[in-house]
Amino acid sequence: IEYDTADIVILAAIFAATIAYFTKGTLWAKQKDIFTDISLANGAARAAKTRDPVKKMAETDRNAIFFYGSQTGTAEDYASRLAKEGHARFGLKTLVADIEDYDFENLDTFPSDHLAFFLLATYGEGEPTDNAVEFYEFLSGDEPQFSEGGSAADEPLQNLKYVTFGLGNNTYEHYNAMVRKVDGYLTKLGAKRLGPAGEGDDGAGTMEEDFLAWKEEMWQVVCKEMGLEEREAIYEPIFKINEDETLTPDSENVYLGEPNKHHLEGKGKPPYNSHNPYIAPISKSLELFTVKDRNCLHMEIDISGSGLNYTTGDHIAIWPTNSGKETDRLLNVLGLGDKRHTVIQVTALDSTSKVPFPSPTTYDAVIRYHVEINGLVSRQFVASLAPFAPTDAAKAELTRLGGDKEAFSEEVSSRYLNIAQVLEKLAPGHKWTSIPFSLIIEGLTHIQPRYYSISSSSQVQKDNVAITAVVESIRLPGSKHVLKGVTTNYLLALKQKQHGDPNPDPHGLTYDINGPRNKYDGIHVPVHIRHSNFKLPSDPEKPIIMIGPGTGVAPFRGFVQERAAQAAAGKKVGKTLLFFGCRNSEEDFLYKSEWPEYAAKLGDSFKLITAFSREGPKKVYVQHRLLEHADEVNELLKAGAYIYVCGDAAHMARDVNATFGKIISEKRGLTEAQGEELVKRMRSSNKYQEDVW
Ligand code: FAD
Repeated sequence: IEYDTADIVILAAIFAATIAYFTKGTLWAKQKDIFTDISLANGAARAAKTRDPVKKMAETDRNAIFFYGSQTGTAEDYASRLAKEGHARFGLKTLVADIEDYDFENLDTFPSDHLAFFLLATYGEGEPTDNAVEFYEFLSGDEPQFSEGGSAADEPLQNLKYVTFGLGNNTYEHYNAMVRKVDGYLTKLGAKRLGPAGEGDDGAGTMEEDFLAWKEEMWQVVCKEMGLEEREAIYEPIFKINEDETLTPDSENVYLGEPNKHHLEGKGKPPYNSHNPYIAPISKSLELFTVKDRNCLHMEIDISGSGLNYTTGDHIAIWPTNSGKETDRLLNVLGLGDKRHTVIQVTALDSTSKVPFPSPTTYDAVIRYHVEINGLVSRQFVASLAPFAPTDAAKAELTRLGGDKEAFSEEVSSRYLNIAQVLEKLAPGHKWTSIPFSLIIEGLTHIQPRYYSISSSSQVQKDNVAITAVVESIRLPGSKHVLKGVTTNYLLALKQKQHGDPNPDPHGLTYDINGPRNKYDGIHVPVHIRHSNFKLPSDPEKPIIMIGPGTGVAPFRGFVQERAAQAAAGKKVGKTLLFFGCRNSEEDFLYKSEWPEYAAKLGDSFKLITAFSREGPKKVYVQHRLLEHADEVNELLKAGAYIYVCGDAAHMARDVNATFGKIISEKRGLTEAQGEELVKRMRSSNKYQEDVW
């Protein structure tokens, strides 16, 4: 039987009303995602969701569920890629699942001929991602309560077969802690893992290759255990794209980049959160320094009247827009340049997939606002494009690059090419018109907001959130190509517009600064706030030691601003020691003129210690300065000082950690191991906090 959309909407509405009647709406209680709203508004009917994964699989006739715990979208991307592959190559009936949409009490009823995949990123200090917090709390609780009442001793999950891969960063102390712990809990509860527990390392820059290597081995084990046979993979689109000639970009129900229905109908509606940005005015923008290819922005974002609030040490997320240059490049190479403003209806071909942006929309809006077009290209995605190449030579090249890790790294990743540049390079002068647009949507991750450590104090400027961001611009030696960071160059363009700067970007970047339907006009930017645990001690008299080189100083400007205001208001403020580092005191010394103002208020309690790496004969970094001040640092620690480290996760944070261990051991006559142990204890009691990226 074929139903048309109207039938489905009516059936779904009747079904939804029936469920609502019998459950008094309780089933909706946890649906915080306003996407549901949006889909219904667009006619993409979806029945009320169950939160029981076993039931959901039965209802949708699936035998493999792919849960993702994702913060920046990579784990989500891996989950959908694995699910697609599981279906295409091995005939699994797959379902991709945001882990926050499910409860896990019924995991003990998981059928033994089904499979659960867990793709889990570790966030911050070994923590679960925001969407995996509830799942993690359930599993790590003293005694998780399962529906059939089994206790850990009975191994209640003995029917559960699972596969797991973690996304981590080895520069953090708790490397891949989430996947390791979850794997431990599941095994303890009797579940059986198929294949190795994979671990991808963002710190080493090998995440994608770790994932590709792990999954081949994993599929072999899964095939053997589950009796699956590999078949020739044929591309099956997940989304149906219909060009709709009855609508134009001026039609009021067409999304031109608005993130949801409230933004289409007006300018958004609170509550504003990670699903629903606030279009905030930029109240102030300036360049803290500008030298050759490097510059750093200070911006203030006005959140008054939005219902958003922050406390000192929180993060703000900026929702970027792709540059006109890269949007044009991709649309043109796909042969969509001329019909960029054609209206398309995008629907999921399968009831369990959701379209990652609202529809109807246009090709231009999808590419400009919703997908990450400038980022690292996935080797698997490149290989999947081979059947759609415009020439035999391009097809052979895609197959070669897709199958050769080293060649791909040398010719694509390390040259910072984006997907459109790869396509241009492989078939000069040709358009890739055969690539189904669904494959583009599936193969590119949806664009992620970028986080910034707030560089103001909420006590001093409650409604004006400051950020301090270095504009990302990387020129490769011997190449004309310059990698321009998506968000920071967008912010730079906003700053230039605000000041009417005559110098547009030298690399030809332009932005749709006014946003869809001019809704961002007047220098606005979509944002939301993310609360963090990076917090000053509640007692201002406690001494603090802050280490923040480069933009790592951002939250410390907020900390010092706050303490200066407290001192000015007559409060007693403890020692406030800040180690700041940059290249040169004349070039990139952030907030150089502000520190004396804070010092005037804080008096002796404030001390700024600088490390200028390129001023002397030898390179000097913050950790060297820390060591030089070992006596003072040790005394402050004895007096109960808190340590805060912010900035580069790869090297600085680790070196600083080791330096503290060294100072403690040397000054207190302890062994190195004892010094390190004391630092570890400070971390676990929250007296050593990091905000690193
Ligand atoms: P992107 O476009 O995201 O590029 C970033 C990097 O990705 C590039 O440098 C490159 O290494 C890689 N890359 C991108 N495209 C490719 C490609 N095609 N091929 C290969 N590699 C590629 N930054 C600040 O300046 N100040 C802060 O206070 C701050 N606080 C942060 C706090 C947190 C909690 C986090 C997680 C990050 C923070 N950051 C901060 C970093 C910030 O979020 C952004 O990552 C940064 O500004 C770059 O964003 P972008 O969109 O301009 O660059």
